[in-house]
Amino acid sequence: MKLRAIILDWAGTVVDYGSRAPVAALQSVFTPAGVPVTVAEARESMGIAKKAHIRSILEIERVRAAWISKYGAPPAEADVDKLYARFIPNQIQVLADYSGLIPGVADAVAAMRSRGLKIGTTTGYNRAMLNYLLERAATQNFIPDCALCPDDTGAGRPLPWMCYLAAIRLEVYPMAAMVKIGDTPADIEEGRNAGMWAIGITRTGNEVGLTEEEWARLAVEEQERMLRSAEQRLLDAGAHYTAPSVAECEPILEQIETSS
Ligand SMILES: [Mg+2]
Repeated sequence: MKLRAIILDWAGTVVDYGSRAPVAALQSVFTPAGVPVTVAEARESMGIAKKAHIRSILEIERVRAAWISKYGAPPAEADVDKLYARFIPNQIQVLADYSGLIPGVADAVAAMRSRGLKIGTTTGYNRAMLNYLLERAATQNFIPDCALCPDDTGAGRPLPWMCYLAAIRLEVYPMAAMVKIGDTPADIEEGRNAGMWAIGITRTGNEVGLTEEEWARLAVEEQERMLRSAEQRLLDAGAHYTAPSVAECEPILEQIETSS
């Protein structure tokens, strides 16, 4: 089947090698609240809408216990509201340092367009964060045809609504002629729930979680081990394929078109 559109995720897929910005911003609100969270805890639910992400961190057993021992009561929805209110400005500030386009993305997207594909995006960031990223990405030669966030649809991943709205905005159908590309299990679930093809991104994304420099310093065996483990988590979430980065998706698109 001729593919019609690609829906890309932002952090760890298009910008922010290693998906560092959300981790830094999440930690920056939990630490002053007296309940610091680890990188692994911050990464566990990556990809869902940020307020839901804060709520889900508070549901982690260790974090919940630490919260109770600090405040004498389990975290309530008012606490989620307070943390999220602090999170928004912190996240936008952190994005300034983590909005570099991942190497190869601009060329890969240009190649996708020359195949006749439209380019949409979805994210767990809110509208203000997404607008900031759009501005920064435009100066680096990445301008998608549409860019949606959970604010636009009332709910984020793993629900398929942002992908459905992207299809409408891009004027593309059927969903089976669209491919979701993202770096978290939540991205993959979003694409599969929408009835799309789903490609999981490993090396540049949340599941490996390293900057380009950190990655380059690893021994080859360690790189292999981390790639395999990231692939497995994304395949377990339902990914049809995985690729180390967006720049390496072209042969997969070719294969989908000839096999479907
Ligand atoms: Mg991401």
